[in-house]
Amino acid sequence: MIARYRLRDLTQSEQDRILRRAGSDISAQMDKAREICDTVRQEGDKALYAYTEAFDGVRLNPGSLRVTDDEFQEAISLVDEQTAATLRYAASNIRRFHEAQMPEPMWMMEVDQGIMAGEKVTPIPDVALYVPRGKGSFPSVLLMLGTPAVVAGVSRIVVLTPPNEMGKVDPAILFAAELLGIREIYKVGGAQAIAAVAYGTETVPKCAKVLGPGNPYVTAAKRLVMGAIDPGVPAGPSEAIILTDGSIDPRLVAMDVLIEAEHGPDSAALVVTWDAQVAAAVEGQLQDLMGQIKSPVRRSFVETVMGRYGGIVECDSQDEAIDFVNRYAPEHMEILTSDPWAILPRIKHAGEILMGEHTPITLCNFLLGPNAILPTGQMARTVSAVSLHDFLKRSSIGYVTREGFQKVAPYAAHFAELEGFETHANAVRGRMK
Ligand code: NAD
Repeated sequence: MIARYRLRDLTQSEQDRILRRAGSDISAQMDKAREICDTVRQEGDKALYAYTEAFDGVRLNPGSLRVTDDEFQEAISLVDEQTAATLRYAASNIRRFHEAQMPEPMWMMEVDQGIMAGEKVTPIPDVALYVPRGKGSFPSVLLMLGTPAVVAGVSRIVVLTPPNEMGKVDPAILFAAELLGIREIYKVGGAQAIAAVAYGTETVPKCAKVLGPGNPYVTAAKRLVMGAIDPGVPAGPSEAIILTDGSIDPRLVAMDVLIEAEHGPDSAALVVTWDAQVAAAVEGQLQDLMGQIKSPVRRSFVETVMGRYGGIVECDSQDEAIDFVNRYAPEHMEILTSDPWAILPRIKHAGEILMGEHTPITLCNFLLGPNAILPTGQMARTVSAVSLHDFLKRSSIGYVTREGFQKVAPYAAHFAELEGFETHANAVRGRMK
């Protein structure tokens, strides 16, 4: 069933349910994740082997948590030429985009005469990148996380990814790692992987930060280990809005709203329009397209999504539709209207905004260049896509001349006394002539 709503007919609580989507309710996974994190902290590698056997169904040989050089070579030889060419092309676009985000390594300005201030940019020392593997294999996630880490100059980049039933890492992931020059890969997933890099084990190093999407166990573990490690951008179930008027083929609109709906049953995918005829036409196209999805698993995800947190939202006007989008703050959005550039300035909250009928979300998810790891669950109101800036930090710099000091000192001393800081004041007064 495809849900179809008229915005003005919805009660506040019905609107809230749509705006909240699956949300970040991970209470059901919290207790299990807590137990896993505590056990990894206490038992280290032993716990990683045990949980990998329990949850990934594979018994790894002792000492085989880390991917060896031989495994790398073997996997890379298995990657076919088309996959290799696709990954190379994607890697090149993603790299060019992220290189353009590089800020000046240092800048200074004169705040007042003789008072200089600025910033210096340095990479974070080490990072763990979580590449999920449960409902699928995601070499694209490694390119999206690894590229900005490499471009930023992070010295130690560690990849965590669950092994398959053969105890191996997907060859395409290892090929992507090779393209990035990343060689430290551990076969571990779920909450246990997050705990491993938060606390460190005999094999897996403790890292300063972990980034990457994952299932609710991964998300729960990130919340639990906060403090021991920086858990980065929160990325929950995928979601998208396709904003459209009557000018675009409704089949394209229907095709594009299904993109994010196939991720999992907790995804959200909405068509938002102010044209009732479009709403009806898109609904018809959706019925047709959903019936043609070959994979029973993907079809069941899409069917669940389009009746639960997804569907079609009909608005009374363009203004109402844009207001709804801004309240929703989608992870991905497409503007499929006659003049998308006229709408763009009015979109205030969205992780990604794709313009016009030739830019389906698929392109950005894999190879357009911008990062596809985006904030979900209305976090796009305050958080941006993963970028170079997640792997860099700034140190403030100050420099005051003798003359500059004469000017600021009385103010600084007074401020220190105003706030009751005696030694602060002494350090200034002791220098004043
Ligand atoms: P995952 O790697 O996050 O989870 C698999 C791991 O979960 C397993 O290794 C196992 O250790 C653990 N696990 C499974 N069942 C468990 C249980 N009962 N108890 C404890 N631990 C258990 O892979 P996934 O499950 O496919 O989830 C990936 C998520 O990431 C999906 O929601 C997907 O939509 C999302 N994703 C997002 C993006 C993005 O760009 N935002 C990209 C790719 C995937």
